[in-house]
Amino acid sequence: NPLQGAQFVLAAHRINQLPADQGAEVAFAGRSNAGKSSALNALTGHKGLARTSKTPGRTQQMVAFSLPSLAQGEGQPPLQVRLIDLPGYGYAKVPPELRDHWKQEIDAYLHQRRSLRGVVLIADIRHPLKEFDRMMLEFCFQTHLPCHLLLTKADKLSRNQASQALAAMRKQFEQDGLQATVQVFSSTEATGVESAREAVVALLRQ
Ligand code: GDP
Repeated sequence: NPLQGAQFVLAAHRINQLPADQGAEVAFAGRSNAGKSSALNALTGHKGLARTSKTPGRTQQMVAFSLPSLAQGEGQPPLQVRLIDLPGYGYAKVPPELRDHWKQEIDAYLHQRRSLRGVVLIADIRHPLKEFDRMMLEFCFQTHLPCHLLLTKADKLSRNQASQALAAMRKQFEQDGLQATVQVFSSTEATGVESAREAVVALLRQ
């Protein structure tokens, strides 16, 4: 597993509290309860890495995890890499001011963070993209950031339904002119974990 050995570094309320903006990082985004923490844990092979708690106070942070550095080409120093867990969005009980704060922070993060190489967006395969997901895709598009969408909780659908959902999403991206890549995923059944890991490493290396 190329994402093995992830370690908690810090939790931040503002982007200027994040680790130094060097090396490469990939951000994980998704609505609250979409399955982002479970996906992070499945991808890193570390069950307790991201908390799967639903307490808004806990989830409303940006959390930085370091990974063992990636070897680069001959003569080049190893690449320092991180995963950033963005605050879950769309939690009904979060006060509007806090929601606005995070919208601004995420916007600033996506626009300003130089080490950011791409975004992994997590959405429940059973529901079409919600406003937040569209906003993230739009931000990525505007800032030329590659985005990889995990349609998670695929275990809740039959295999056939899951491939239909995938095909529908690809078609929609094509119609909307969005460049994002998309795959089926399940944390509980470990579906698509290998390809999602490859996608994250590809983002980190580009
Ligand atoms: P987050 O708020 O996006 O970090 O979501 P969590 O990872 O905490 O998951 C929210 C809920 O969905 C929890 O009850 C998880 O057990 C459940 N969940 C997450 N991923 C999956 C999955 O792949 N399959 C199923 N069946 N449930 C999942």
